Amino acid sequence: MRKRILFIEDDPILNRGICTGLEREGYEMKAGFSIADAKNMLARERFDLLLLDAGLPDGDGFKLCRELKDDTLPVILLTARGMECDMVGGLDAGADDYIVKPVSLRVLTARIQALLRRTSNKETVYRMGPFEFAFEETSFRKHGVLLQLSVREQKLLAYLVAHANLVLSRNKILEYLWTDDPDSVEENAVAVVIRRLREKLEDDPARPVYIRNVYGAGYMWSEEKG
Ligand code: CA
Repeated sequence: MRKRILFIEDDPILNRGICTGLEREGYEMKAGFSIADAKNMLARERFDLLLLDAGLPDGDGFKLCRELKDDTLPVILLTARGMECDMVGGLDAGADDYIVKPVSLRVLTARIQALLRRTSNKETVYRMGPFEFAFEETSFRKHGVLLQLSVREQKLLAYLVAHANLVLSRNKILEYLWTDDPDSVEENAVAVVIRRLREKLEDDPARPVYIRNVYGAGYMWSEEKG
């Protein structure tokens, strides 16, 4: 699974530049421009790492870090030159690493890799409600009981979970699951994989609460029940 990074930076040019660069390095990037954006996106989506500018128009990154301190989300703080004296404060606040701007993409990528390596053990296991999914070890459990998932089902589950609480259209899922040749796929192929996955995960597959239908829009992994 590609690692998902949330980048909060109010300078739009810098934000776009770093997002593009890190996407090329293989990360899935989401951009926000304020503390409010950060809070919204963290509440709705799951990320592997937060890259956070310290100076934002509606507050400072240190403060947000402190609020996230008990979270398992790894945080790298970006501070402006001349704020070096604040770095200790940044680490105190719960940041896992800090970098002084201007930062080269190479340095940034190396620090991100290092931090993800340090934290990846707990990051690769997803727990919610009765579920425990260890995607890298391909071990999937419900109430502690191992589930047998096909490769396609695993891929779909990873995709849904990585976008928890967000609607994914049938077409998006289809293109993701059959990257090799999406045109050759039968009309109901996505529905078939969804149905099989529901049979394995849902208490009542006819009334799904985890893999929900969003009428006319697609499917969504819902964390509400968890
Ligand atoms: Ca800034």
